[in-house]
Amino acid sequence: MRWRDKLIRFMYGRYGYDKLSFFMFCAYFAIFIIRTFLAFSSSSVIRVISLVLLFLSFALLALIIFRFLSKNIYARQRENAVYLRLSKPVKGFFKRTFNRIKYIKTHRYRKCPHCKIFLRLPRKKGKHTVKCPRCGKNFDVNIVI
Ligand SMILES: [Zn+2]
Repeated sequence: MRWRDKLIRFMYGRYGYDKLSFFMFCAYFAIFIIRTFLAFSSSSVIRVISLVLLFLSFALLALIIFRFLSKNIYARQRENAVYLRLSKPVKGFFKRTFNRIKYIKTHRYRKCPHCKIFLRLPRKKGKHTVKCPRCGKNFDVNIVI
């Protein structure tokens, strides 16, 4: 098991991977799939786009490896924190859209006008006054369907 010890010693003090790395790997894979489809086209514009995407995917891979082996852990953690902060509203939107469909028969989603939080309300048709559980203020909702 000498190679394993060597690997552990090599990785000691290095950053490894995080959620940003995972996202970049997904982007890399997405580009790979897109390029597979673009390969069917003979248009010169598409070929240029495909080439640009190829360089982009190399850059992504280089970045993933660079961050994986980086010894500046603090800087990498900061990058990851920025990624998490920026991706949070996007993830929230997709999760909410998924849940809107999942609970379409029983619930409706409405935003509290005071604190901007999204609430899942039981699907009761008509006008109701809702008390927000977060800020405690009342607001009116109209559930049509
Ligand atoms: Zn509220």
